[in-house]
Amino acid sequence: MKTEISIEFFPPQTPEGLEKLRSTRKTLAKLNPTFFSVTYGAGGSTRERTFAVVKEIAAEGFDAAPHLSCIGSTRESIREILNEYKAAGIKRTVALRGDLPSGMAETGEFRYANELVEFIRAETGDWFSIEVAAYPEWHPQAKSPKDDLQAFARKMNAGANSAITQYFFNADAYFHFVEEASALGIVAPIIPGIMPIAGFTKLARFSDACGTDIPRWMRKKFESYGDDTDSIRAFGLDVVTELCERLLKGGAPGLHFYSMNQAALTTEICQRLD
Ligand code: FAD
Repeated sequence: MKTEISIEFFPPQTPEGLEKLRSTRKTLAKLNPTFFSVTYGAGGSTRERTFAVVKEIAAEGFDAAPHLSCIGSTRESIREILNEYKAAGIKRTVALRGDLPSGMAETGEFRYANELVEFIRAETGDWFSIEVAAYPEWHPQAKSPKDDLQAFARKMNAGANSAITQYFFNADAYFHFVEEASALGIVAPIIPGIMPIAGFTKLARFSDACGTDIPRWMRKKFESYGDDTDSIRAFGLDVVTELCERLLKGGAPGLHFYSMNQAALTTEICQRLD
């Protein structure tokens, strides 16, 4: 059976970046993804750029899923965005709380992602298929794993169709999370978010910030390669492909790739997975 995949982009800031993303998309389109998603800067900082990329994806004949984060936003501004997407025929969205950009003090009219999901359902009924975020290694601000799981259940019960996880390198954390969610009656798909590894320094910094554990054996090995980018790339490909294999064998309902607007690693991993 064909594995369903989806692929995430961020909206580029420059015309060169946009051009490069078009060529990345052309390559990744060959993988026949279920949808391409496009991130959204909290507080609306990428509103126009996200929409522009989403429209291009839709015009190319692919399903596009704009991310939408609610922190720092008013109900009216979210309503406007939803109406824009509806008018453009967009039928998916990834609903998030987001993180307030530094220097922005206004939290706006939404506190948590479940309130956004409720709002989208109240405003647009069943028009959108809604994805939410899940954290197999727990969200860094969560009071406890139990609280985080309950917050996740609230988002799902508010009307989300499925979830995409934060990236992780520990398959057991994912299986444990799915089991705990299922014990709470959540049967909707929880799709693992996969981060292809392009380099170690940035990955380590980013993982610390978003609460993803890089297991010691992996960290040590990456560190031992120093500036040898070829070895880092080769090891990263092996590790992430093996992770995907394990996840799919264990019943993961698909894979969501954080492409970072690059085609090569995602393509190679999918080819290795056949
Ligand atoms: P929530 O589900 O609201 O949870 C946030 C925190 O609040 C958690 O710790 C949770 O346990 C806690 N919480 C929830 N409800 C309550 C409650 N009622 N009382 C107390 N605590 C509560 N960020 C962007 O800015 N743009 C993007 O495009 C984007 N895309 C993403 C895509 C994916 C697949 C993932 C996994 C993350 C993405 N993020 C994005 C990052 C995300 O916005 C951050 O992780 C953010 O900190 C949390 O968003 P959330 O929707 O998970 O929030």
